[in-house]
Amino acid sequence: MKYLRLEPKRPRIGVFDFTSCEGCELQLANHEETLVPFLKAIEVVNFREVSSYKGEDYDIALIEGCISRDDEVGRIEKIRAQAKVLVAIGSCACFGGVNRLKNAYNLDEANKEVYGDKPKSTAKVRAIKEVVKVDLEIPGCPINKLEVERIVQCLAFEVPFNFPVYPVCVECKQRFTTCMMEKGQLCLGSIAQAGCNAPCPAGGLGCWGCRGPAPDHNFEEFMTLAKQRGFSEKEISERLGFFGGFEGRR
Ligand code: SF4
Ligand code: SF4
Ligand code: SF4
Repeated sequence: MKYLRLEPKRPRIGVFDFTSCEGCELQLANHEETLVPFLKAIEVVNFREVSSYKGEDYDIALIEGCISRDDEVGRIEKIRAQAKVLVAIGSCACFGGVNRLKNAYNLDEANKEVYGDKPKSTAKVRAIKEVVKVDLEIPGCPINKLEVERIVQCLAFEVPFNFPVYPVCVECKQRFTTCMMEKGQLCLGSIAQAGCNAPCPAGGLGCWGCRGPAPDHNFEEFMTLAKQRGFSEKEISERLGFFGGFEGRR
């Protein structure tokens, strides 16, 4: 089937989950209006949530979740060896996500406290790129299905995809949302990467930065404004650390 005289490729896709809530995978199977054309544009060869078929001949691997156990390392290395393109999907895969919070604790003590004399395998949380080479990261908690569809279209037609370099504030203003900072809430929208269409401020919640930092952001100005509005270093640091995308900037 040709489109605009171009013959789209039908990428063979495998979807795999590591430490995560599986919400990003669910997003891939979501958005019913476009689900049928989306599934026609790709060939699903391995995706536990939508099919019992388990093929190993995928070209593109979509990886959800972070690495938080030693036995996950060999599995991700095997997938990396098979995939021509490896894509990290969601904040867990891109930054460690909310799971990264556990790195602040002594894991042996926590294991003993929770599981007593039946400890579970556990390790410090790492993003996928800290373990294997990642070709593309699609951030978000969860990922934005519309953005994934645009990326898949680009992959199918072999054209480059560019993420917005501007922050969430731009999309927030395009929606005419009243600024949460003006309402006394902390919001990371001025430093977080756009692409989500600012659903959190539109729903009355300051941004938590699930997409990580925007390339074109002014961190120092954000800190100045947040402190001027009375937010403490601790509050700002906790917010920045929640999804792991601002590691090193807290
Ligand atoms: S990024 Fe969010 S929605 Fe996706 S797997 Fe992690 S916790 Fe779940
Ligand atoms: S609510 Fe947040 S994202 Fe929206 S304009 Fe204010 S700081 Fe920016
Ligand atoms: S507004 Fe912020 S927390 Fe909400 S989806 Fe967008 S980047 Fe994530």
